[in-house]
Amino acid sequence: MTDSTRIAFLPAVEPGDEAREPSNGEPRGRCFAFAGSEMLVTARLDGISAVPTWEELRGWNIAPIRYQYLGTLGCEPCWSAELSPDGDFPERTALTNLRSLYDSLPEVDYAIAGRAIQVVVWERDHQFCGRCGAPTERVAGERGRRCLECDLTAYPRLTPAIIVLIERGSRILLARSHAFVPRRFGIVAGFVEPGESLEDAVRREVREEVAIEIADIAYFGSQPWPFPHGIMIGFRAQHLRGEIVLADGELAEAGWYGLNDLPVIPTKLSIARRLIDDWAGRCGAVIDQP
Ligand SMILES: [Zn+2]
Repeated sequence: MTDSTRIAFLPAVEPGDEAREPSNGEPRGRCFAFAGSEMLVTARLDGISAVPTWEELRGWNIAPIRYQYLGTLGCEPCWSAELSPDGDFPERTALTNLRSLYDSLPEVDYAIAGRAIQVVVWERDHQFCGRCGAPTERVAGERGRRCLECDLTAYPRLTPAIIVLIERGSRILLARSHAFVPRRFGIVAGFVEPGESLEDAVRREVREEVAIEIADIAYFGSQPWPFPHGIMIGFRAQHLRGEIVLADGELAEAGWYGLNDLPVIPTKLSIARRLIDDWAGRCGAVIDQP
């Protein structure tokens, strides 16, 4: 999320508190609505996607299954909503995967959409208690759902993952996963395990995936990764010792690459790309890839 996003979008002071939501009858403002993992947008002639308003939804006879107040953008209330995938959607709208909206949604809208889908999915999946199976209800004053029987309260889940750019002289470590689109390389990443510090997770993932030791682990930045509920925490590190040995099954290929022999790297959607662009910038270069 950029600084401009943080300034422009004000999350609800006490998320989930109905009393603080705009309450003049029906909800108004913009509605970040999802059917499954796809977001309802209207397509504009200039190729930009727009987030529909509640007025538009009502005009199209679309009634969400449930909806949540997110906060305000400027003075405009913003909501998330869950739609039935079987609904009828008008011709000039499209249900689109959030990842592929990166290039067509304005940046601030994309950031709010990432928040919206996580709230929608969390509330959909926590209608019943994970401990005893009884129905849950919203907790006033916070984004939580409490069990009516046993009082267990569930909050939106975030899954932290680390991602690390490793430098060795004028080269960086790039790796290709079996899961990536063909030819595209990325950098080492993985989920943080219970009881582990972020730095421990960085060292462990690097050992597991390429069997080298690193030093000078330094925080770089972070990025919400709503696919479906991640937060990526980015680091830089230096190669300390060892040569690359691939772990069975994890990676298809890995190696040390310089500015002059870079393969296809991640798009600008990801923090992996920000880390690589930052390295290139420190080398006085700009990478000419989308
Ligand atoms: Zn319960």
